[in-house]
Amino acid sequence: MFDWLIVGAGFAGSVLAERLATQRGDKVLVIDKRNHIAGNAYDRHDAAGVLMHQYGPHIFHTNSEAVFEYLSTFTEWRPYEHRVLAQVDGQLLPVPINRTTINKLYGLHLSSDEQVEAFLATQAEPVQEIRTSEDVVVSRVGRELYEKFFRGYTRKQWGVDPSELDKSVTARVPTRTSEDDRYFTDRFQYMPAQGYTRMFERMLNHANIKIMLNTRFEEVRNFIPFRRLIFTGPVDEFFGFRHGHLPYRSLRFKHVTLDKPWHQPVGVVNYPQTEDYTRVTEYKHLTGQEHQKTTLTYEYSASDGEPYYPVPRPENAILYQKYEALADAEENVWFVGRLATYRYYNMDQVVGQALATFRRIEAAFPAKGGT
Ligand code: FAD
Repeated sequence: MFDWLIVGAGFAGSVLAERLATQRGDKVLVIDKRNHIAGNAYDRHDAAGVLMHQYGPHIFHTNSEAVFEYLSTFTEWRPYEHRVLAQVDGQLLPVPINRTTINKLYGLHLSSDEQVEAFLATQAEPVQEIRTSEDVVVSRVGRELYEKFFRGYTRKQWGVDPSELDKSVTARVPTRTSEDDRYFTDRFQYMPAQGYTRMFERMLNHANIKIMLNTRFEEVRNFIPFRRLIFTGPVDEFFGFRHGHLPYRSLRFKHVTLDKPWHQPVGVVNYPQTEDYTRVTEYKHLTGQEHQKTTLTYEYSASDGEPYYPVPRPENAILYQKYEALADAEENVWFVGRLATYRYYNMDQVVGQALATFRRIEAAFPAKGGT
């Protein structure tokens, strides 16, 4: 009899497995339908020996010292500040849009925050009520920058025009008046020195944790004896889609290894105007690996396939609330992580959510004793 069955070996499931096993001495079985641990953060050395990310680039960044310290138990870190360029009008320009982007695009020499702010003010269009992604961007930087940087990219990524998407989608994309070209501004910006999978291996390496891969929850839910369940898969799947499917946007990845050391100047290049793919990642920028070859991932958005991004529309939030009510009514089942709570979370947020869930479990059931 396991104390816990944990469905999903991503951040949500693995953090909880580690906490329950080491802090309480609980016996835990972690299952995953995939043939590997680490969920979407899974990385591996490909046939050429280049460390790459199977499910697209994962860059760790957080403002939470608690999350950073917790993960530091399982990995050393490599400092890495992510930079992204967008190919626009034949040039590679920094995103988020910053002073350099505007100077290069318009042949200007703006030299202060105030000058850039004043320039953007001349471009911005007044919008009465900000409801959609288009409204957010047009009201901040104007229609021309919106068309060049956001419209095509968003259409590719979401399959709909930004005017039909909730404002929250582009609210995440800041615009800067400085020359700061870092993609993230968080306090802690690092990559796990030996990769994510190695970090997960260390997290799950405990006598009380058993792992079963290639195993779907539905296959084993009636056969494996367990007291309590942590579910990190899709919440609508757990309830047999009884209220319908929660809509997701999916992705296809094309991984390519080139027989040359470098392909592009930064880790990620976005293609808002041309090409079928949204972006190209070159992993050696992220990992710091030295190798004569280089591996890239071309990322294509898709309407069907593995669930990746919850589609942020009001009707979907209402549908999720129905599943959330069912989840709340379940006894001895915890729903944790991006799929079980139908929300786009960064890795650090999922770790934070899992640690908070552990504290709630501790409060509800006092521990047997740690190991
Ligand atoms: P997952 O990692 O998805 O783990 C869930 C696991 O459950 C999966 O392994 C799945 O196989 C398994 N599972 C599901 N259903 C079942 C079932 N029925 N039976 C058995 N197993 C099941 N975050 C960042 O912080 N920085 C980034 O740069 C970043 N980049 C990203 C890029 C892309 C393309 C995507 C899609 C996400 C990115 N994220 C990034 C977000 C990050 O991937 C998530 O925060 C993280 O993976 C969430 O962990 P999780 O455990 O909730 O889910």
